Amino acid sequence: MSQPVLVLIDPVTPPAQPIPAAERLRVQPADQPAVTVTDLGVTRGDGIFETIGAAHGKTQAAGPHLERLARSARMLDLPELDLAIIGEAVELAISEHAPVEHLLLKIVVTRGIEGSGHPTAWVYAFEGEDATDQQVGGIAVARLDRGYRSDVATTSPWLLAGAKTLSYAINRAAGREAARRGVDDVIFTSSDGYVLEGPTSTVIARFGDTLVTPPPEDLGILPGTTQAALFEIAESFGMSTGYRALKSEELDSADGVWLVSSGHQIRPVRALDNRELTRDRDLDARLLAALQGRAR
Ligand code: PLP
Repeated sequence: MSQPVLVLIDPVTPPAQPIPAAERLRVQPADQPAVTVTDLGVTRGDGIFETIGAAHGKTQAAGPHLERLARSARMLDLPELDLAIIGEAVELAISEHAPVEHLLLKIVVTRGIEGSGHPTAWVYAFEGEDATDQQVGGIAVARLDRGYRSDVATTSPWLLAGAKTLSYAINRAAGREAARRGVDDVIFTSSDGYVLEGPTSTVIARFGDTLVTPPPEDLGILPGTTQAALFEIAESFGMSTGYRALKSEELDSADGVWLVSSGHQIRPVRALDNRELTRDRDLDARLLAALQGRAR
């Protein structure tokens, strides 16, 4: 594994006098202290993040990731972010990192040191793990009730459903629950029985020649950048795509189910709650190749 790279960012445009980009980005050894113990990102999990993939040094869906970062910032009432400088930080981190096939760029923006009113931000570039086994062999998945109704984003927006916040302890706990159940990952469902998302992925189901994913804004889930790219790819293959609420049991009779994300690209679900699902290995391979081949 190559050395990770850290770029510290001043992420907010100063209102009066602009500061040159070079003074707003600082490369620092990734193993040196960079965050203060009173930073609200550390003490409250109060902040947001994005993880962008880069294949052979070219970012994948950087624009949609930065727009989603801005969306999360608005949902958390953070100051308006300067997306241009954050985009520059991403490119700087790539250029500072040794060339690798699969790089991940984690952008973090916290509410900052308590009382400062100024966000803390950085990009951390590190080599992605090889996910070939799961991408090709498929994964076993269990459904877990997230405990919120499907309309939680409307009834209780303060729960920040659908924002990519630093408060991912629940998502991590779901991963440990998956391990306890002897499966690779989970799909969250709403308490009223609708398919939501994985802890770090979007769910896509196939019915005939149509790919379907739950509508993010209605269901309080994260709008996936990989899902959006996959829909474009599927359309170029002559398939139809659409957004609609899916009852949990619809997954059992789907002609294919995938979990997609920037980190793992696409992983076919081979078994759901211990029952084998239908798979089209040829389509799985074509979708994986197309996703891996995209850049910018
Ligand atoms: N849903 C959640 C909760 C996530 O954390 C992620 C990614 O980390 C996704 C969906 C997939 O999003 P993307 O494809 O943009 O990586």
